[in-house]
Amino acid sequence: MEMNRIKITNGKIILRDSIIPNGTLLVEEGKIVAVTAGDAEIPDARVIDAEGQYIAPGFIDIHVHGGGDHDFMDGTEEAFLKVAEMHAAHGTTSMMPTTLTADRQGILHTLDMYEQAHAKNKFGAQFIGLHLEGPYFSMNQRGAQDPRYIRDPDPDEYLEILSHSQSIKRWSAAPERKGAIAFGKVLCERGILPSMAHTDAIYEEALEAFENGYTLLTHFYSAMSGVTRKNAFRYAGVIEAGYLHDALDVEIIADGVHLPAPLLKLIYKIKGPEHIALITDAMRGAGMPEGESILGSRANGLPVIIEDGVAKMPDRSSFAGSVATADRLVRVMVEKAELPLVDAIRMITHTPARIMKLDNKIGTLASGMDADIVIFDEAIRINKTIIKGKLA
Ligand SMILES: [Zn+2]
Repeated sequence: MEMNRIKITNGKIILRDSIIPNGTLLVEEGKIVAVTAGDAEIPDARVIDAEGQYIAPGFIDIHVHGGGDHDFMDGTEEAFLKVAEMHAAHGTTSMMPTTLTADRQGILHTLDMYEQAHAKNKFGAQFIGLHLEGPYFSMNQRGAQDPRYIRDPDPDEYLEILSHSQSIKRWSAAPERKGAIAFGKVLCERGILPSMAHTDAIYEEALEAFENGYTLLTHFYSAMSGVTRKNAFRYAGVIEAGYLHDALDVEIIADGVHLPAPLLKLIYKIKGPEHIALITDAMRGAGMPEGESILGSRANGLPVIIEDGVAKMPDRSSFAGSVATADRLVRVMVEKAELPLVDAIRMITHTPARIMKLDNKIGTLASGMDADIVIFDEAIRINKTIIKGKLA
């Protein structure tokens, strides 16, 4: 019987802490079966010559809204598939489609579309679960989230949403909202990761949330409290909680715009690559020319402008999402933050996989793992994306 066997050879293979200067990967039936130094004689294998370029695990984006002029909130199967294909061309092999703050019907419809698109997603980055962003946020830290929908966690509502879909794997909320700790406990019981987001919590509130399962900070620094003063007294915020507690993971929009290089370096210095996930948080403008665009659903979203490599509110007073792709995040971490390539890769492969408890399947080039692989050059331009052993 003929095996679907692929040999990827003559490349610099990126492992978690090191690089094999010239190695070979063997893939069978969509899984990695061997990683070796040098070449290997494999009969009947289809050969992919990496031509001395890098071979890395496929990129994992756990927070993404859109790209290629589509948004997951468009409410169409086509939008899901096109976003997945556009990001696959930039090295993403797994993604968590992320919702924006919306009404209950809008959220439920997006859950249905996810299931429908998931079954048909043959050529794009694989969907590894839904991320709900909102609507239980701090009004003061809403950023570009629609204020009409922002509210306290309501058990009637979130239990209905949770019973509607088995695919929700993380949910971002502000822990200081009334009922947010109980909400976090419900999520943990169901194996869903609660994440602190769009929050004005003080340190003590963040600590209580952390102790009750909120172990991830959504787009660290963006829409998040730092040190504040009330009367004469100074209070630490969520950012300080992130730095103080080693076990708190952070995700960062490493597009080189949301966080300047000194902050990228500071986060890396304190948290280390094992606790930082790089995310695009991309909206529909990713992979598109600059100019006018829409944040959120095409029918009901907010007009925004894309310039300087980022989406901005029309008055340019704040950002309205990123237009990054995963390869750009790696370039920023290497070129602007001046970090080792292995650490930049770890932050968009193994660390997000570990945060989502998928590190037994994806995020590492090792025997038994899914054959999700990217090949890229010295400038971190993607040459090939392979998803479960198939060229995307
Ligand atoms: Zn987002």
